[in-house]
Amino acid sequence: MKFRDGERVHFIDRKGRRYPLTLCKGKVFQFSGENIHHDDIIGKEDGVTVTMSRGSKFVVLRPTLPEYILKMPRGAQVIYPKDIGIILMWGDIYPGAKVVEAGIGSGALTMALLRAVGERGAVISYEVRDDFCKRALDNIRLYLGETKNLIVRQKDINEGIGEEGVDRVILDLPEPWRVVGHAAQVLREGGIFLCYLPTVLQVSTVVKSLKEAGNFIQIETIETLLRTWHVEENSVRPDHRMVAHTGFITVARKFSNEQ
Ligand code: SAH
Repeated sequence: MKFRDGERVHFIDRKGRRYPLTLCKGKVFQFSGENIHHDDIIGKEDGVTVTMSRGSKFVVLRPTLPEYILKMPRGAQVIYPKDIGIILMWGDIYPGAKVVEAGIGSGALTMALLRAVGERGAVISYEVRDDFCKRALDNIRLYLGETKNLIVRQKDINEGIGEEGVDRVILDLPEPWRVVGHAAQVLREGGIFLCYLPTVLQVSTVVKSLKEAGNFIQIETIETLLRTWHVEENSVRPDHRMVAHTGFITVARKFSNEQ
């Protein structure tokens, strides 16, 4: 697929360093005393090598979703790609699913959900803050273009969920226990409740609420540690640094007491 005007790309130098750029007809990208016209990149294929005015070479790549998320402008803290990957699997997000999410934050998780539910599905995202809704929509549009499968509701989800027959409720907000009752009302039987929380006290509270609600089963909490490796000829070992903690993921299935 060829690069288009208005698209986000990453310039990668010889050392693998990444420089994000939004392509814009007529503009010039300046870097370290060299430059290149955006028009020389628009229309080229993903993965092309370009030469700057003084001879430096860069590979230009369309960022993957995790790469884009880590470089995009953030209002709220985003969920890290390692956790988003787990959320998609443990939350069992499938094409055609109707997913209610809160809050939209910077839109990182939302983008992954939108791709997973596909055109036949829907993501209905609740967010209290107007400025976050705008930032997230800008981030989403820049990477995914128009998204007909997204509905944003600028509302407090603690006050209720205005949808029915929901397949999945996915929460990234500080007090998800306040949403357990609403989720129980709108989730279909067999539906999934999932929340992402940074601290154990929050996890205890939400698990207690899920148990007390009486219609959630298979309540499970997990965390994921991702360790990158340094691989050079004489030195193959884990990297010295890693992100030690992000958040816990709690999942539960909705069931019916009726026989
Ligand atoms: N998952 C997002 C980050 C969400 S940060 C991402 O990956 O980019 C948490 C967001 O929840 C914030 O934007 C906050 O404004 C919103 N929020 C907090 N409480 C809320 C509530 N009760 N209803 C709706 N949104 C809420």
